[in-house]
Amino acid sequence: MSKRDYYEILGVERTATQAEIKKAYRKIALQNHPDRNPGNKAAEEKFKEAAEAYEVLSDDNKRQRYDQFGHAGMGGAGGFGGGGMNMEDIFANFGDIFGSAFGGGGFGFGGGRSQRQPRGSNLRIRVKLNLQEMVEGVTKKMKVTRMVLADGATFKTCPTCKGSGQQVRIINTPLGQMQTATTCGTCSGTGKIADKIPNGANKQGLIKKEETVEVKIPAGAREGIQMQVRGKGNEAAFGGPAGDLLVVIEEEQHAEIHRDGNNLHYDLFVGLPDVILGADVEVPTATGKAKIKIEPGTQSGKVLRLKGKGLPSLEGYGTGDLFIHVNAFIPKKLSSEEIKFFEKMRGNENFEPDQENKSKSFFDKVKEIFD
Ligand SMILES: [Zn+2]
Repeated sequence: MSKRDYYEILGVERTATQAEIKKAYRKIALQNHPDRNPGNKAAEEKFKEAAEAYEVLSDDNKRQRYDQFGHAGMGGAGGFGGGGMNMEDIFANFGDIFGSAFGGGGFGFGGGRSQRQPRGSNLRIRVKLNLQEMVEGVTKKMKVTRMVLADGATFKTCPTCKGSGQQVRIINTPLGQMQTATTCGTCSGTGKIADKIPNGANKQGLIKKEETVEVKIPAGAREGIQMQVRGKGNEAAFGGPAGDLLVVIEEEQHAEIHRDGNNLHYDLFVGLPDVILGADVEVPTATGKAKIKIEPGTQSGKVLRLKGKGLPSLEGYGTGDLFIHVNAFIPKKLSSEEIKFFEKMRGNENFEPDQENKSKSFFDKVKEIFD
């Protein structure tokens, strides 16, 4: 698949100024921001594509190379070698561009981040939830080992860049002198270097610390969902803003209940006398047990629905149901007396299959139970 032109992606002329490029990128990034388009893959792709284009065109060196060689010039030293950028990189690098639009509060990823200082890296942990926790939501306390600023660490302004975090270089080209700004190599762009570092801390003044983090998991969470706890990742060099803690949900299989989306399914086996004569039986639910009535003459394969006993939808559109699939248990071993009894029933028209019932579809067989 051929890659789209970076100028085309951002909708700017090849002669666009940095301000125009930034403005165009900001607009596309805001339109396709994941906070505004949850679960929208197309928007996510556009968001990533625009970030990649902006990453190149906002950097004079890379832009020059791209203008000269196109996408072929972007491999290797290009930073992402054509593989695109992941969401974390985008927020770490460009979060401040759309941060202001989403305010400094909880909405948006980049809110309130300082202009220059790189953010600490994200941490990822997994948490296993059982069916009841997925249905009801749960607050989990988890031990997390983070990199945080060590007590007693002190820093001074980087002498190379004088605290700006950028190194300006003058390079001579056939067209004359050109000025380029790159991240300061001495301080990695933080503008600071270590002064006093306590034992056990690294040269950025950070030390490992185990903390207990409380994570509130909403009802409806399920396998693969990732939650973000802001500022609970690693702190950046010299105690700079921390990354996020990403909590990945794993699902513990229920022994008897099977989940399909928001709905739950349970296979109920009922003895022949009970399906023939009717019975009250107990079935497991996600949060406990429920009593249901088996009507006399219930067909094997009938599905009973316990409305609202499934998982709440994460998007807030109602709640799934628990479907009870009724199976008549057919005994394999019979006493001679029982065999005689069923032999007598052979040919009895009450024991002949009812043609009308046989033709019913799955959906016709679902009977609603309002619990
Ligand atoms: Zn520096």
